Amino acid sequence: YKILRFIFGDQLNANHTWYKEENQAQYLYVIAELKQETNYVKHHIQKVAAFFSAMENFASALKKSQLNVLHLTLDDTQHDESITTLLKRLAEQYQCQEIQYQYPDEYRLYQQMQQLESHISLKISACDSEHFLLPYSDISAHFKKDKHVKMEFFYRMMRKRFNILMKDGAPQGGQWNFDQDNRNKLKKADLATIPEPKVFSNDIEIILRRINNHKISTLGHCSSTLLWPTSRNQAKQLLDYFCTHLLPHFGQFQDAMTCQTSHKWSLYHSRIAFALNTKMLHPMHVINQVLSEFDKRKNEINLAQVEGFIRQILGWREYVRGVYWQNMPDYATKNELNAKRALPDYFWHGNTKMNCMKQAIDQSLDTAYAHHIQRLMITGNFCLLTGIKPDDVDNWYLGIYIDAIEWVEMPNTRGMSQFADGGLIATKPYASSGNYINKMSDYCKGCHYNVKQKSEETACPFNSLYWLFMHTHEARLSRNPRIGMVYKNWQKQNETQQSATLKRAQWCLTNIEKL
Ligand code: FAD
Ligand code: SF4
Repeated sequence: YKILRFIFGDQLNANHTWYKEENQAQYLYVIAELKQETNYVKHHIQKVAAFFSAMENFASALKKSQLNVLHLTLDDTQHDESITTLLKRLAEQYQCQEIQYQYPDEYRLYQQMQQLESHISLKISACDSEHFLLPYSDISAHFKKDKHVKMEFFYRMMRKRFNILMKDGAPQGGQWNFDQDNRNKLKKADLATIPEPKVFSNDIEIILRRINNHKISTLGHCSSTLLWPTSRNQAKQLLDYFCTHLLPHFGQFQDAMTCQTSHKWSLYHSRIAFALNTKMLHPMHVINQVLSEFDKRKNEINLAQVEGFIRQILGWREYVRGVYWQNMPDYATKNELNAKRALPDYFWHGNTKMNCMKQAIDQSLDTAYAHHIQRLMITGNFCLLTGIKPDDVDNWYLGIYIDAIEWVEMPNTRGMSQFADGGLIATKPYASSGNYINKMSDYCKGCHYNVKQKSEETACPFNSLYWLFMHTHEARLSRNPRIGMVYKNWQKQNETQQSATLKRAQWCLTNIEKL
């Protein structure tokens, strides 16, 4: 073959122009399971299996279209230390004159590919992955290094640029954002009507055996069937299911959490992030389908639900990618609040008396999934309040979630949830006491701790830790107009109450592993 084309595991975009070009006989497409991709962090077993299964299905689909495809398993690449050594070996073996690839989305891989030329004396060229809505070359026009860019303004620009939910140059419905109509708690009566989550049962026995044979270290639980979509067809089915059954209440219950139903892990969330991040689905395909569903069922689906969902894809997803690329590699070392504590052990097994944490962690270990508010306001909030090292937090999130790829994981974790970027993403830390958790969930009812108490032995740890966090960072945070009120509430408490709360928080930190 004249040209070797390397496909990364998250570049499963069958509509890429690569596959539509003439003269396909000259190309050898290579897609490979590699140890280097399984061990840069410890991943959830379902995540590794889902990637391998989706890669295999993608390779089969390309083969069916008569393309020359080399799908390599861990058995085939076990002696290849890295992508570089693999490509060198294959280029020689197949006598290729050139290597081509699509730009990867992670800085780590971007750098590795930049260095290819110094290891391989062949022509090497790269092209766009044709996935994101904002072209890579436009990122620097909208993001500046070390400068906060308001997501809301970015989102409005994207709405205008792509003419989404716009009418005569103004936002449809007269406003950009319907958050206030959304974000309800699930009441008892709502629990019975949550649709059953759409899951798949992909047979992954052979893949699991391979992972085991090659001694890949993983975390979390897995059965021999995988519930995640691993082909474009399944990804589309999941999106169809979302549009038909979940979209009508997406925004309304976007922030709600419950432990009272077996559907508690999925609720009204789409769970399409894995399909999107592996590029089996294109973001504009998702947006268009949601818009056409809205068009067809205007009497059943209101604008607030649709806008709430589109903001996540057209706004947040594109926004965090911009922040990531404009600020890497420095972003990965940011630790503005000087957090130093190690991640407690229960993040790896879920044995904690805090019910909210147990629910979020157990579910993540069981399914490789938790929804946004569980990630942000339960586990993320806990790490923020207790000052866990951002590296530990990043590694946990990057490993455990099915959809975790650094470009999207890191700004969400280090930035939005840990405020370690000093406010490049969030204008204030997402810190909260047990009160918020109690407001949005039914977790507190079944908890060992009392959400109404601050300083007693049975007091909810989030309460005292919240005040200690605010107290510790007062110099920085009291200047923030969005937080001023909080300090007024603190000052209203007498000194005895304040010191009892801080004492309880210190106890919680000293005994963090026992909480
Ligand atoms: P839904 O709730 O159905 O939302 C629809 C889609 O919107 C998602 O699939 C996703 O593509 C997009 N989206 C929503 N919020 C965000 C966001 N903040 N940033 C980027 N895209 C968003 N998302 C990832 O894709 N990978 C990650 O590794 C990841 N790590 C996170 C870590 C933390 C600490 C937090 C707070 C959030 C993280 N997110 C991550 C964002 C968000 O939580 C997930 O995208 C979402 O939970 C995925 O589930 P879903 O597909 O059911 O999403
Ligand atoms: Fe979580 Fe506190 Fe509620 Fe327990 S009482 S579930 S620890 S918020």
